[in-house]
Amino acid sequence: MMSNVETPRYPMEGGSSQSSLNHHQQQQQQQQQPTILSRYESQKRRDWNTFGQYLKNQRPPVTLSQCNCNHVLEFLRYLDQFGKTKVHLHGCVFFGQPDPPAPCTCPLRQAWGSLDALIGRLRAAYEENGGLPESNPFGNGAIRVYLREIKEGQAKARGIPYKKKKKKKNQNLKHFKQSSTTTPAAAASASC
Ligand SMILES: [Zn+2]
Repeated sequence: MMSNVETPRYPMEGGSSQSSLNHHQQQQQQQQQPTILSRYESQKRRDWNTFGQYLKNQRPPVTLSQCNCNHVLEFLRYLDQFGKTKVHLHGCVFFGQPDPPAPCTCPLRQAWGSLDALIGRLRAAYEENGGLPESNPFGNGAIRVYLREIKEGQAKARGIPYKKKKKKKNQNLKHFKQSSTTTPAAAASASC
């Protein structure tokens, strides 16, 4: 049920850390510093609401206690449709070019950095909303593996390395595909 009620505000309940101040000083302080959520906190709340809405919209709806890392992975894929980062497909002539000279039809995706930050906020929000750290789906290894895949894939497709090249000893990154026995995707589905 949608209503046009605005997001409720949460005034601070009793400033316990300010107990040394007398009542008059406390009032002054509260007047001078109205409670404003930090950007991180308000973003985290928005993310949490979005995720909650996403779970409710599933058929059948998923409760928070049923939520596992598969739901989180599906949520991340679902968000791609709102992405604004051009990620070139393998067939694109601009694959691997950081600064393409012309537009192309490759899809827009969520940038790896956005997803990584989002997961961090949701992971915190999950536990703040009563979830147990042991069962936190946002902390699951499968999510880490998925994000790493996205990061590496986008770095290649966009020609933009996310890491500063400090390591000199390993130049055989190109052999990674051939030498690794289990693909990250397989590892992800197995551990989730
Ligand atoms: Zn392209």
